[in-house]
Amino acid sequence: MLKYYYGTMASGKSATLLMNAHQKKKNNIKCLIIKPHDKRDDKVTSRIGLESDCIVFYPEDDLFEMFKLKRLSEGITEIYVDECQFLTKEQIHQLWLLSRGDVTVNCFGLRVTYRNELFTAIQTLSVYADVEVKLEPTCTCKYCNEDATTHLLIVDDKAVLDYPEKFEGDVEGDIHFECVCIGCWLERIAKDTQ
Ligand SMILES: [Zn+2]
Repeated sequence: MLKYYYGTMASGKSATLLMNAHQKKKNNIKCLIIKPHDKRDDKVTSRIGLESDCIVFYPEDDLFEMFKLKRLSEGITEIYVDECQFLTKEQIHQLWLLSRGDVTVNCFGLRVTYRNELFTAIQTLSVYADVEVKLEPTCTCKYCNEDATTHLLIVDDKAVLDYPEKFEGDVEGDIHFECVCIGCWLERIAKDTQ
């Protein structure tokens, strides 16, 4: 089975991943935690302090080839994928192949970019996923306190729709993301990008 868990930034995606994997391991179910390479580290970490080692992969890696033997030889039946929005379309297909039979692949990630568009990987994942789970929004809009469903990219106090650098997670300083509702996203973009 291929499952997709989604939420905004700071919605507890990594924490949910780690807690679910921990629970499975306690029940003697063999788990594998993987994530696409980023500049930070080789761990899955959550804001509330949970963390776990994981296997890192690159855009050119074939995830089916990488993990099919491990799946058989180590008896792994649960695979957890963090930051799945950064996978390639091909890798989503490879995860789907891995998830046939008695293996469940649990993908955790964002749905939309700061431009409020679906990530390319998510367009494919939404078609392939057997189950989509919306994580309870723990994150509220910075401006009106509604549930946050998307995010703004703020550069020097202004929301922007185009920024040249590829982001891998949160950044601090003069460039940062703000979790917001759609209404405030539209309002802020209209005000700042005209
Ligand atoms: Zn709002």
